[in-house]
Amino acid sequence: MKTDIEKPRLKTLSDYRPQMAQCVKCGLCRAHCPVFAERGRETAVARGKITLAQALLDGDIGPDDKVAKSLSQCLLCGTCARHCPNQVPVDSVVLAARRELAAHRGRSLFGRGLAAVLRRPRLMQMLAFGVPRLASLLFRRVPRQSGLRLRFSTPLLSRQRSLPAFARKSFRRSHAEFIAGAPTRPVVALFTGCMINYIYPKVGEGALRALTAVGFHVVIPKDQGCCGLPALSAGDGDTARELAANNLRAFSRHDLAHIVTLCASCHSGMTRYFRDLGPAYEKLSERVTDIHSLLVDEGLETTLRDLPRPATAPGAALHLPCHLQHDARQAAAPGRLLDALAGIERVPMDKSEACCGLGGTFSLYHYPTSRRLGAIKAEAFRRSGAGRLVTACPGCIMQLQDSLDQAGLPQRACHVLELLGEALEEAHQPARTNSSDPTRAEKREL
Ligand code: SF4
Ligand code: SF4
Repeated sequence: MKTDIEKPRLKTLSDYRPQMAQCVKCGLCRAHCPVFAERGRETAVARGKITLAQALLDGDIGPDDKVAKSLSQCLLCGTCARHCPNQVPVDSVVLAARRELAAHRGRSLFGRGLAAVLRRPRLMQMLAFGVPRLASLLFRRVPRQSGLRLRFSTPLLSRQRSLPAFARKSFRRSHAEFIAGAPTRPVVALFTGCMINYIYPKVGEGALRALTAVGFHVVIPKDQGCCGLPALSAGDGDTARELAANNLRAFSRHDLAHIVTLCASCHSGMTRYFRDLGPAYEKLSERVTDIHSLLVDEGLETTLRDLPRPATAPGAALHLPCHLQHDARQAAAPGRLLDALAGIERVPMDKSEACCGLGGTFSLYHYPTSRRLGAIKAEAFRRSGAGRLVTACPGCIMQLQDSLDQAGLPQRACHVLELLGEALEEAHQPARTNSSDPTRAEKREL
């Protein structure tokens, strides 16, 4: 049953006028912007984008192709904002400017297709069901076990790019809505996001094992949807608002201690962008937490260190997603969990904090630049000598795997939660012997 909920309001470009005025054009962001490092043009860097957005707002320039192209050249990584002495929220300004452009120019063909899929979960489910069955017609396997490549050219996807396969069964369909934990423990909700639900369900399985290992009861609302970041990235405010309202409705039905995200980008969508939509959204966003720091707070490191030592696994290098780097505690958590895993040695890697080059729609419109940024990451990984590349975001996994494939490296990119899930499962405890095991626990509807 649909309940009345507060209508979300997105800020306009004009709302950001005071923050844009705080840009003193010092140019410090030039040293930190990955796109500027590749392109070397002023319009690629934060300062140039703020100047363009201000000119667009003042009517000094029109919403033409050149401006649209310049504003599309942003990974929304937020690196510039983190280093800006005046805390100019450049990524939020770029998103607002893209919405302003879309209001004048209409949505792109890609944007319209994206909206159609994101707004209709059943259509997404049908695609997720149909694509694996058509896989042999649409894709060919890359010469390793890692992924697929398109057989035919499409306007936005390079045939060179390796893509992950859709899962045969989505994560949410594979689980009951409520999974019981220890009797006195609180209830947390699992925000699955699209990629974990449809492409990387094993990450969700790892999360379930870890959350139940620390005793939480877990709710996986069936009616949750996309966090809205892909729509925001495409300049589609209407779709982002609709998705936010749906998630507010889905999660407000439950009495929750935390709403847990497993994806750095979803975390950004459900916190930094969600909280600006109105008081009810801000209140919900206060309960959103990235799973890694929650597991650290709940003492999972001790459990992991106490697991029986398996045969030594290949060393792991860590790529830290940009969207986890806004908070030092949050940024440290995936590495702490990885370090606590018995039998897996963390291998230092240069540029572990550098953007992988995905950036939402950026890698679709600017694949050559995205690929060059990925190549830098793959080369740093090769030099580290690690046996696998671990991260904390499914989007990064997709980009990193493509980068490893393009570099001819046979190793696999994976999520730290996959390793946690494997370790807890292999040890047969506490996840297997404990009544909180997601595969054996009593399951009941709320
Ligand atoms: S965005 Fe920040 S770092 Fe960049 S020029 Fe403006 S004030 Fe300086
Ligand atoms: S958000 Fe990232 S890509 Fe965009 S201007 Fe800032 S540093 Fe550059």
